[in-house]
Amino acid sequence: MSRSEDLYERAQRVVPGGVHSPVRAFRGLDSGPIFVESAAGARITDVDGNSYVDFCMAFGPLILGHAHPEVRAAVATALDRGWSYGAAESVSLELAELITNRVDFVDSIRFVNSGTEAVMSALRLARAATGRDKIVKFAGCYHGHTDAMLIKAGSGLAGLAVPDSAGVPQGVAADTLVAPLDDETKLTELFDHHGREIAAVIIEPVPANHGLLPQRTTFVQHVANLCRENHALLIFDEVITGFRLAFGGYAQLAGMHPDLVTWGKVIGGGFPVGAIGGRRELMEQFAPDGPVYQAGTLSANPIAMTAGLTTLQLLTDGEVFDRLESLGRYLDESLRGAPGLRLQRCGSLFWLSRDTTDAPATIRSTAAIPSNVGNGFRRIFSAALRNGVYLPPSPFEVGFLSTAHSRDDIDQLAGSLDRL
Ligand code: PMP
Repeated sequence: MSRSEDLYERAQRVVPGGVHSPVRAFRGLDSGPIFVESAAGARITDVDGNSYVDFCMAFGPLILGHAHPEVRAAVATALDRGWSYGAAESVSLELAELITNRVDFVDSIRFVNSGTEAVMSALRLARAATGRDKIVKFAGCYHGHTDAMLIKAGSGLAGLAVPDSAGVPQGVAADTLVAPLDDETKLTELFDHHGREIAAVIIEPVPANHGLLPQRTTFVQHVANLCRENHALLIFDEVITGFRLAFGGYAQLAGMHPDLVTWGKVIGGGFPVGAIGGRRELMEQFAPDGPVYQAGTLSANPIAMTAGLTTLQLLTDGEVFDRLESLGRYLDESLRGAPGLRLQRCGSLFWLSRDTTDAPATIRSTAAIPSNVGNGFRRIFSAALRNGVYLPPSPFEVGFLSTAHSRDDIDQLAGSLDRL
């Protein structure tokens, strides 16, 4: 028995499913989870001494790779000053200034501990600001595990084939309206029926939790127009895309100005950070100035803020995004023509599946292809793992490139998929 197998067996006795987040359990794959011992640059090493090129990258936060030396040094220095105050400090101020100076639709920002928390608070703010209850989300978009968003979500839920979660009250679910992606007509109809009740529409502008389902800009623009016409707020959930596609995320690339944005992952440089950003008059509604309660013992934790600040400072010159795009193009070239394999890519996000039909934009077209979900992905994942490449362990999770990846790493991935 390997050490990973042994640890997994022990973990299953004291932890639900042996893991603290479902996708980590490798369900539906050929092996149990690997237990990671250490990570540096583009590689992780497991407790059995196997080393892998890591294209999961902690599901997105590590745009600079594992244990980046500058982030590490900043965190080590910060530790000497203590690691939690529960009081105002200046690191979060520096991070807030860096972001508000560079993201033109964000005047004000509140830090939380996860993407889930950011979404939960953004929805509460939107409901308070509009005096309305209903939220529109899109089928296949994942917005964390707050009750109202566990309706037709993707990601771990899709992998487990559980469309909704148990334990979500009917009353909560009733205030969530679900629309299909890539469909102007359906969304218009929804607004025709419920326009005056809708507080906000939340969207991953590049949906990346049910595979990668890039949307037409005209569709996202249509969403924005309907929100404006109906006095509903537009929330971009850029937990994955923020500070990754560009410093200002999809909003910057598309030149769009959502009312609120939610961030996570890269903003904490691998530590637990989420954030809500938006216009001053909206954000002022949060306590203590306004009536919308929002709080956290560990919010803006100085160590996490230091990791986020150092990471984002290294992203400010834009060179990182060019580098990632060029690595992405190399990935396109390397995998082009691989038999029975489809690569969808958007910047440093990519999705591999055993399917060669047209690139999907909605979950219906994805879910209709069973080979993609079952054996197909299992074979991709196993072939990669056997050859020392660690992909996200679910058919619906996207892969992540970081600045620590090299062309050799991509060659290793391509080589492993040659022999599928
Ligand atoms: N929104 C999006 C778009 C996400 O991808 C995720 C997590 N993958 C979340 C929200 C929730 O973030 P967290 O896991 O940090 O709670």
